[in-house]
Amino acid sequence: TELAQIRNFSIIAHIDHGKSTLADRLIQRTGGLSDREMSAQVLDNMDIEKERGITIKAQTVRLNYTASDGITYELNLMDTPGHVDFAYEVSRSLAACEGALLVVDAAQGVEAQTLANVYQSIEHDHEIVPVINKIDLPAAEPEKVRNEIEEVIGIDASDAVLASAKSGIGIDEILEAVVAKIPAPKGDRTAPLKAMLVDSWYDPYLGVVILVRVIDGVIKKGLNVKFMQGGTDHLVDRVGCFTPKRIDLPELGPGEIGFITAQIKEVEQAKVGDTITTVKGGAAQALPGYKEVQPVVFCGLFPVDANDFEKLRESIGKLRLNDASFSFEMESSAALGFGFRCGFLGLLHLEIIQERLSREYDLDLITTAPSVVYRLTMTDGTVKELHNPADMPDPVKIDFMEEPWIKAVIYTPDEYLGSILKLCQDRRGIQKDLTYVGGRAQVTYELPLNEVVFDFYDRLKSISRGYASFDYEQIGLQEGDLVMMNILVNNEPVDALSMVVHRSQAEPRGRALVERLKELIPRHMFKIPIQAAIGAKVIARETISAMRKDVTAKCYGGDITRKKKLLEKQKEGKKRMREYGNVQIPQEAFIAALRMG
Ligand code: GDP
Ligand code: MG
Repeated sequence: TELAQIRNFSIIAHIDHGKSTLADRLIQRTGGLSDREMSAQVLDNMDIEKERGITIKAQTVRLNYTASDGITYELNLMDTPGHVDFAYEVSRSLAACEGALLVVDAAQGVEAQTLANVYQSIEHDHEIVPVINKIDLPAAEPEKVRNEIEEVIGIDASDAVLASAKSGIGIDEILEAVVAKIPAPKGDRTAPLKAMLVDSWYDPYLGVVILVRVIDGVIKKGLNVKFMQGGTDHLVDRVGCFTPKRIDLPELGPGEIGFITAQIKEVEQAKVGDTITTVKGGAAQALPGYKEVQPVVFCGLFPVDANDFEKLRESIGKLRLNDASFSFEMESSAALGFGFRCGFLGLLHLEIIQERLSREYDLDLITTAPSVVYRLTMTDGTVKELHNPADMPDPVKIDFMEEPWIKAVIYTPDEYLGSILKLCQDRRGIQKDLTYVGGRAQVTYELPLNEVVFDFYDRLKSISRGYASFDYEQIGLQEGDLVMMNILVNNEPVDALSMVVHRSQAEPRGRALVERLKELIPRHMFKIPIQAAIGAKVIARETISAMRKDVTAKCYGGDITRKKKLLEKQKEGKKRMREYGNVQIPQEAFIAALRMG
């Protein structure tokens, strides 16, 4: 396709403002699928994506649209991941486009995610086409939203398209605006090949499929290509695009977005942001913006039933085939048995993996408290990364500890501001900025990631009844007064419950944990102390009193069938218990204790 006839764009929106519905409408209008093939929200094709209404993998569809000028254009619509955990993937997707449709709900107006996304889009020099969606709603206030877009975002919204993705209003206007306002890509067909690797995923039939945006040159079947960052060579064996049906093409030229396969077995070899060039006569310089993504949140995943360990190993391995950003290594815990220490891009990423394991692989799992990566500088000058609290060295050998911090932007209706400021303050936040825009507050905080990975997002949502939005980026490490808190049951530390906390948070968190455990651990024949401790210093303590003798006495003698039943029950119970310093702790106790975070 000629450069002048190509338009590459993405849709940016706050969650639920209608991005997927609009994408479906555009596909339907341009005839990529028959009505029969249009299932609900074709772009979000993973169950979890559909349920949560977010995109996890970048997906691109090619639409052929004959505009009012009589010319047929190739429109490449890219659906980008919609969550802060996948910010780097988003940035690469945006770098592959020249423009964006900014979809704003006519009843809700501009929200935090709208802003975060639009600023990113502006940073990538995108031409932005505002679309005010859901004008069919009785509560729609398109004029108010138009002003808000101009005031808050600072772009011209005078010719924003008024649309209803649901009822199909304004769809042609949107397509015309894309053609007229979004610039055609630039590129040189005769220059050495330069293509950006936008995304990659594993397909059971095709192997690793790679989404590319060609900058210069041409990519075609039979070409020997080099991944400049990965340092590997591959033979391209298939080139094509999605309409969203997969279609093979003879080539992808400059400005085009499509996929290639090259007999690659693992997604790890196809890193997002890499530059693809030819082995012979290739480009001298890679494209800017490449970054190696690293997991930031770690936790242990253990099978509830120890017999499921092999199944868990296999299932994690399969998931990893499709997701190079998540890491795992074997781990053993005295409390929980054998499992894996896994690293994730964030809590949502963690939840998605956990959910897929239980849903797609039918595994019953225990997740240990999520933890961030701490940097320890030892007294001998060496530096260590701590991924698992269980690996914490002797504190006397640590000179100082650093923890990752984030910059969070929260956007909220005014009435919830007070409670949100308090929440941030309680989580050791440092307020950086507070501004008001049309009855809403935008507050910027610096917060330790450690305080956010627990239940910050849930708390924020419940405080604001769902109205506050939250977006964050990492800003580096800062020294912190961090301590290792151990939970001791009957004077023995329970490894699965140990955690690194800030000294100021240790006592309340320790107290809550021991109180919870007291409720959850059944009585024994002897007293059981439950303690939270920092080193040798106990900071919270509860005691489970001993069982009264006559309670058990009652069980013996008397009715023989009842006695049998009791023994039967005890046996069953045993299976789900973990013996801990002579104390039997039911599995549920670990789960419940960990759930409170
Ligand atoms: P996304 O999260 O931005 O992808 O939003 P979706 O496309 O999933 O839409 C969120 C919800 O809004 C769904 O229930 C849609 O049916 C609904 N929706 C989308 N567009 C419109 C519209 O134009 N009018 C109305 N009334 N509802 C819409
Ligand atoms: Mg969606």
